[in-house]
Amino acid sequence: MLLSSRVKGITDSITMKLNEKALNLNDEGKVIYNLSGGQLPIKPLPEFIENIHHQLNFLKSYQYSPVLGFPALRKKLSAHMAEQRHLPLDIFENDYDCIISNGSKHSIYNCLGALLDSGDEVILLAPYWVSYPEMIKFWGGIPTVVKSNVFDAFVPSIDDIKKAISPRTKAIIVNSPNNPSGIHYSEAWMRDFAAFLLEFPDLIVISDEVYSEISYFDPKPSFFYQYDHTLLSRTIIIQAISKSLASTGLRLGYAIGPSAVIGAMGKIQGQTTSGPNSLIQRALLDFDFKLIDSFLMPVKFHVRQNAATLREKFREANLGHCWYQSTSAFYFMLDFSRTPMFARFEGEQQDFSYKIADELLNDEGITVVPGSDFGIPNSARISLVIEEVPFTEAIIKIVKYLKRV
Ligand code: PLP
Repeated sequence: MLLSSRVKGITDSITMKLNEKALNLNDEGKVIYNLSGGQLPIKPLPEFIENIHHQLNFLKSYQYSPVLGFPALRKKLSAHMAEQRHLPLDIFENDYDCIISNGSKHSIYNCLGALLDSGDEVILLAPYWVSYPEMIKFWGGIPTVVKSNVFDAFVPSIDDIKKAISPRTKAIIVNSPNNPSGIHYSEAWMRDFAAFLLEFPDLIVISDEVYSEISYFDPKPSFFYQYDHTLLSRTIIIQAISKSLASTGLRLGYAIGPSAVIGAMGKIQGQTTSGPNSLIQRALLDFDFKLIDSFLMPVKFHVRQNAATLREKFREANLGHCWYQSTSAFYFMLDFSRTPMFARFEGEQQDFSYKIADELLNDEGITVVPGSDFGIPNSARISLVIEEVPFTEAIIKIVKYLKRV
């Protein structure tokens, strides 16, 4: 069967192979420490579950919703966004709109489809979320990657971003708090980024903020458009309930941005997936978003605790070159290139991320996500969500592995 060249251009996730192997090893009786998780291992809060139960009784919960989502919920989400970001409460009332989709991944996909013509470039800040480059390529765009490194705690320099601009640059994706680095860019960075954007008035920003509520280190995340509200006229904000409500499987995300872009995203959505899940939208209509803060409190405490364990164990083992302070989301990016074990991997090849992740699984029973998926060679993403005791055991094993020559 001859497949489309478009689909042939999409890279298979190598993580799937590692997960499969981990399952097989587990079946054979080996203890596996799963540090590859991209979701919170807890149920959402009872009030939300209760709302879902309640909405099960209504016919409308089972019928198509409007393509862009229920108007009352779109309004509620926009008002909540304005309040959370300390923006004027009526800021999204004129010239802006909100579209609800089947997860924020779907919102990003529709947004890129609404913006990109073939050959348009989109700037990505590495480490970046794995799906951005593949979605950009699928719509005929070209990802342009701006690197960062562990010494700068994976914060990209604004100068480097400036250098990446070309006449074909259409948009930039900013993901702060960041998956996979587990940091958010500072207020100073956001102010500088806002100033940079003013120099490039045609540049569109996709601001992926799905981890904005999971931050365990002060000062909390801030956003460039808070320092100049005019930038909202070319910003599409991406949000979801996946991480903040521990509801990845319910598939509900949304985008807020200029009406023209949201309308175009609606065209794509209308002819492909139709409106999002009616039941979950209706449950959200009655849900008090203010409850999320207290729901996430123990999550943040736990992630901060595991991050501290990681830091202590690395410091005790003199592995200072691969440590930085993570501040948000629930990940840490482990750079292997300055650790003793890396001596075994030098050679022609540029990136050993997969090989190292495979070895960590075989030798220590630990699954991580290879950094090549995130645009950072010779690294891996560690998830900080598993329980404290197995997490500590896993970190001790990782330290032993990093010191092995
Ligand atoms: N953006 C980032 C940075 C992510 O890490 C993820 C999921 O891991 C998503 C978007 C997509 O989330 P969802 O489609 O579940 O809302």
